[in-house]
Amino acid sequence: MADDTLFHRIIRREIPADIVYEDEHLVAFRDIAPQAPVHVLFVPKDTVPTLDALDPDQPELVGRLAIAAARYARAQGLADDGYRVVINCNRDGGQTVFQLHLHLLAGAPMGSFGAAQ
Ligand code: 5GP
Repeated sequence: MADDTLFHRIIRREIPADIVYEDEHLVAFRDIAPQAPVHVLFVPKDTVPTLDALDPDQPELVGRLAIAAARYARAQGLADDGYRVVINCNRDGGQTVFQLHLHLLAGAPMGSFGAAQ
């Protein structure tokens, strides 16, 4: 069911998670398998399986995720050094949980992702 992913269960507090931020629109919690010293997932409360499934009438949804991540990074003192945000979409994007989420990765240099080899 699209509205019963692992992340929906975390939002409903049926599965424990280290929740670091919540408002009426979204929840943010630490990734269980962090890929950086700081790895937080920002998840909308509205059900949206993938970025590809996002309704064109919902531009504010990703904006809220991005602004919440930026504010969190700033509040944690991470913004000046910098960070990476990532949204994986579908199989080749590496998406494993089919509720839209934005990864915030920080606390160490991320490397030159996307640079010419
Ligand atoms: P995706 O690969 O779909 O972009 O990201 C899913 C993320 O969810 C992965 O980084 C993975 O480590 C994380 N994850 C998987 N299961 C759990 C869990 O039970 N709790 C938390 N906090 N994160 C999880």
